[in-house]
Amino acid sequence: MTKHFNIAIDGPAGAGKSTIAKMVAKELGFVYVDTGAMYRTMALSFLRQGIDPADEAAIAAACGGVDITIRYEDGAQQVFLNGENVTGLIRTEEVGNMASSTSVYMPVREKLVELQKQLAARENVIMDGRDIGTCVLPDAPVKIYLTASSRVRAERRYKELTKKGLSCDLDEIRKDIEERDHRDMHREHSPLKQAEDAVLLDSSPMTAQEVAAAIIRIACEHGLEVEQ
Ligand code: C5P
Repeated sequence: MTKHFNIAIDGPAGAGKSTIAKMVAKELGFVYVDTGAMYRTMALSFLRQGIDPADEAAIAAACGGVDITIRYEDGAQQVFLNGENVTGLIRTEEVGNMASSTSVYMPVREKLVELQKQLAARENVIMDGRDIGTCVLPDAPVKIYLTASSRVRAERRYKELTKKGLSCDLDEIRKDIEERDHRDMHREHSPLKQAEDAVLLDSSPMTAQEVAAAIIRIACEHGLEVEQ
């Protein structure tokens, strides 16, 4: 099997991972894999079935009936839940919170980590999430831990949601983000943390372009050959 060049990006909610990963993917001709979208898709399925996120046995039992497929249309990742394209339905705070509550369970993680590893083995990917550098792609030559203050992150998410016409409250978003981070960082399985060999980037004072350029520079320092 050909060895591909993979870039892992981890960090808390709203740090700019997906915006930046998309920019880097476009610049380098890599495939962008948004793993949060997969946890959100699982969560959407659990919400539709009315499953209590505290009911671990029910979540584990429901995992078998969830089929998640990833396809790319014009370079953009599309997620399918049992054949239905749900890409436009998973960006709400409700789904995000359900994803954070149910991603703590091993049956959910095992299913999605396997899918993520398969995607990364097929081509050059830039993959973002919470456990990419520590668990999904431990051998990735480039690992980035991207963060920003919770205030900056809440403001960014607020702008993102209002731009889509969704009504939201800034303080509420900040509270949600802090709760989500706490849960993601303190869970038993694959908690969010900086991998030992990851480069820490604080995007609070940086533009998305600056962060993307920094990641490309780091990738070149780690052996990526970029055609001029
Ligand atoms: O990044 P995003 O906000 O879309 O992720 C939603 C939730 O999915 C996160 O709060 C986290 O609990 C979970 N997640 C995870 N591991 C990943 C990606 C996301 O546990 N690799």
